[in-house]
Amino acid sequence: AENITVALAGNPNCGKTTMFNAITGAHQRVGNYPGITVERKEGSYRHNGKEVHLIDIPGTYSLTAYSLEEVVAREVLVDEKVDVVVDIIDATALERSLYLAVQFMELGIPLVLALNMMDEVKKKGIRINSKSLGELLQVPVVETVARKGDGKEDIVREAVAVARKSGHEWKPLEISYGPDIDPILAGMTHMIEAANFMTERYPARWIALKYLEGDEKIMAAGRQTGSISRKLEEMVITVEELCQKNFNSYPEAIIADHRYGFINSVLRQPNVLVTASHERFD
Ligand code: GDP
Ligand code: MG
Repeated sequence: AENITVALAGNPNCGKTTMFNAITGAHQRVGNYPGITVERKEGSYRHNGKEVHLIDIPGTYSLTAYSLEEVVAREVLVDEKVDVVVDIIDATALERSLYLAVQFMELGIPLVLALNMMDEVKKKGIRINSKSLGELLQVPVVETVARKGDGKEDIVREAVAVARKSGHEWKPLEISYGPDIDPILAGMTHMIEAANFMTERYPARWIALKYLEGDEKIMAAGRQTGSISRKLEEMVITVEELCQKNFNSYPEAIIADHRYGFINSVLRQPNVLVTASHERFD
């Protein structure tokens, strides 16, 4: 049987390490990424005769290279042939937590969402319809309480099921970034595709978005890769000027706003999320 590599991801303090320990038990190794002090934990477990390799990637809020953790997180995803990401979500803070999930979806990496801290969710009187959420996002969603090990079998089962599916079922999510950004984003994406510019590593639209978000790491790699990097950087300046003129803002801020807009449009669908305060008016 072929092996499966699963990355456990999530915001800091979402319960990632607790879940990692619950799943792998004593079968784990702790080290550092080469040359840096970011901790690296790996472990393994067996599921239906398959060896599943689990990597605990650094806790992050984003996948843009603003911090060492973010750079490490995405390098692991792309360089280590991760078959599926399990994103541990603090379900008491769904909107904020889904921001990272959306970025995995934009990267087009197979994904399972684990709604963790479900004990706290219940205590707070929040009701989450995880089935509806999963259908709307088109991602398997499981409910967990890492502290008790609840749901760890569901994570394992869904991760293996997702890893078995063929790649074409995981088309990168494409959010609209509004009339100022979308046309230039489409133009940049087209150029990147035509030149096969770093597309062996990332989806073309994702690369374009990283340019617009001012991701220095991707731009540095781009300058090494081909001359279209300069043209892309010029297009970014055009977008920056537009955003400045029309919103007195920056492309990365507008991109973040639209990601939250997408998340809220999902969470506002009927029956997805009912908070205690809303319930009084029902
Ligand atoms: P990490 O930063 O994502 O690795 O988070 P940790 O695994 O260190 O957990 C952060 C805190 O949340 C710890 O105090 C955990 O005991 C707690 N925690 C983790 N999972 C749960 C859960 O499902 N319910 C509750 N109530 N607490 C949890
Ligand atoms: Mg941790």
